[in-house]
Order: sequence, then C-alpha cells, then structure tokens
Amino acid sequence: MSEPIFVTKPLLPNKEKFLAYVDQIWQSQWLTNQGTMHQMFEKNISRYLNGSQVTLTVNGHVALETAIRSMELTGEVITTPFSFASTTHAISICGLKPVFCDIKPSDLTIDEDQIEELITEKTSAILPVHVYGHCCNVEKIQEIADRHHLKVIYDAAHAFGVTKEGTTVAAWGDVSIFSFHATKLFNSIEGGALVYKNPALKERLDLLKNFGISDEEHVKLVAGNGKMNEFQAAMGLCNLELMDDVISKRRELTLQYRSELNDIKGLCLFQPEENIKMHYNYAYFPILVDEKKFGMSRDALYEALKQENIFTRKYFYPLIPRYECYQKDYAADSYPVAERVSKQVLTLPLYFDLKPEQISFITNTIRKIQGAFLHA
Ligand SMILES: *Cc1c(COP(=O)(O)O)cnc(C)c1O
Repeated sequence: MSEPIFVTKPLLPNKEKFLAYVDQIWQSQWLTNQGTMHQMFEKNISRYLNGSQVTLTVNGHVALETAIRSMELTGEVITTPFSFASTTHAISICGLKPVFCDIKPSDLTIDEDQIEELITEKTSAILPVHVYGHCCNVEKIQEIADRHHLKVIYDAAHAFGVTKEGTTVAAWGDVSIFSFHATKLFNSIEGGALVYKNPALKERLDLLKNFGISDEEHVKLVAGNGKMNEFQAAMGLCNLELMDDVISKRRELTLQYRSELNDIKGLCLFQPEENIKMHYNYAYFPILVDEKKFGMSRDALYEALKQENIFTRKYFYPLIPRYECYQKDYAADSYPVAERVSKQVLTLPLYFDLKPEQISFITNTIRKIQGAFLHA
C-alpha cells in the first residue's frame, strides 16, 4: 500500500524565514494587538489585492460575522445552500434569517437569475460565495442589489488570488471576506481578512474586531474580539511571498488532472478560467460523479479510493439546509441543483507539493476502480 494521500496539506514556508520573524516578535515582546507583523501583513495583503482596504481577523468566520455586523443588516439575507457551514452560521448567529437560492450547474455559484424572486420587504443583503474560487456573476448580482437597495457581502474564503478583469474579486460587493485557514491554498495558520473599497469602513471594522474600543477611555461599539496575533501575521507574511508559485504549481497539477480525467465518461470537470477575463487560483479540484454514466455512485467511488489510501472529500455534503440545526426550517426539495451536486461532488487531493506521479496514481486508480466495478 502506498503512502496515504490526503485531500489537502498546509502550505509551509521556509522555516528559517519564519523563525527570523519569531525572533523579532520575541525581541519586541509584543504578541498581539496590531503589532509590527500585523501592520506589515495588512499592508502586504493590501498591495497584493490592488491596494484594497484590508482589516485582518483571527479567522475567516469572524471576518464574515464582522462584515455582517458592520452593515447593520435586518431580516433576511439571500445566500447559497452550497457552501461550508460558516456561511449560513454567520448569518444565523447575527440574528438574521438565511434564505437559500439555488446554484448554477455550470460553476456551482448562486444562480443570479433566481435571486430576485426571493427578495421580500425583509431582505437586506445578498451573501454569495465564490465557491472553489469560481467567481460569481458579480455584475448581475450588483445590478440586482442596486435595484433593490441591498448590501452585497461576498464569502470569498476560497477566492484569494482570483482576479477578474485584472483586479481582485474583492473589488465587487460592499465587502468580501477571505479565509487564511491552514487548509486553504494560502494560510496564516488561522486567519482571515475583510476587504473593501470604502476607506470610511476601516474605522468601524477595526472597532468591531476589538471590543469596540477606540482608545483607553472610549468604547464606541458593542463588539467581540476578532484580532489576528503576531505569529499568525508572521506566517502570513512568509506564505504571501509564495503565492505566485503556489498558483502556478496548482495550475500545472490541475491541468494534469483535467487531461488525465478528460475522457472518463460520467465525470464532470470544471474550467472556470475559460472566461478569459478571470484568473483562477486553482483552490480546489472538484469533480461531479454522474452515477448513471460513470457506472458507480460518488459515495462508492469515495469509499473505494479510501481503500487505496486516497482521501478525497465530499465537499460540500450534506447541503446546509439538510443540517440537523436547519432542516426543520427549510423544505428539502427547493434547491434541486444544489441537492444533486451535493450528492455527486468529490474534491480530489490538491496541494502545493502534491507530485505529478501522485496525480497519475489517483487518476489511474479511479480508472481501475471504475473498471473493476463495471465488471464485477
Ligand atoms: C473556510 C471557510 C470559511 C471560514 O473560514 P475560517 O478561516 O475557517 O474561519 C467560510 N466560508 C467558506 C466557504 C470556507 O470555506
């Protein structure tokens, strides 16, 4: 049996480089609260994102909750059922009602043509997800939001490094959030960022992640603690330097996957960068398994790969409205595309130091499993 291949592996920078920053932290004796590392990291992230405004947070989820709080939303928020738990939880925790809109089969992002029929007098925002780094139809979503005076918050947790028309995807919407969690293509161990255009938002967001404290004697807002610490920022600084390499390496691996899986019947692959105005970040390699054409189900393929020490992920399954904590509030059959996709999707291993031989091993194993299954 070969070494296990996991679905992801964290990006680790040169250790000496990181330790040099740790030395600086030791000398400064400043561990958190907007220290030198934090300031540098915030500046470098802003530069990487075409000079956008940036507020760093301890993780992506806190960034999302902070984004929602900053917009003072009420009532209902239209979002996608096909995402990580964090997206819907952030809406619910803020006392708002998530309203789910189905997704498009072409790229699995929210179906912008179905948003308007879900808008009621209670709707205050749209919260789409650039799922897998696939860019939503940002122009159309903005048009709808403008027509109905709604805020737009993008969960861009998967989309760090994605650009459209030469600029970061975070240039769209009122605010976007990124996640720098260890499992994402870029990490600061844990970490997150709010990214926005309006400089007037900066003060409010900085307050919202620091108990609303503006100075020693003034507390302006009711808020919690979402601060990123110096060690996280140091890790982020090191990894940010690797971003161009990370994306080009992941691109090569993705192209290899596509060419080796291309002729297998019943597997649907995605090519989001087909839209030449967009530069993709190759954050994930999702495939859809069509049981009728492929000959076996997604679940059967998942289990068979596991037997071969290849660990894929049903990402995202179950669908959010199917969670125990939400199912009593939502009809199960209102999102047919998302429902089907959640039963067909499998994300294959993809990370910076995955080897081309390992990809060939994975794709050959998929062929072998399919062959054995069909002839059993
Ligand atoms: C990872 C993720 C988050 C949350 O980010 P954390 O940094 O893990 O808190 C939110 N939304 C989506 C879509 C994610 O994948």
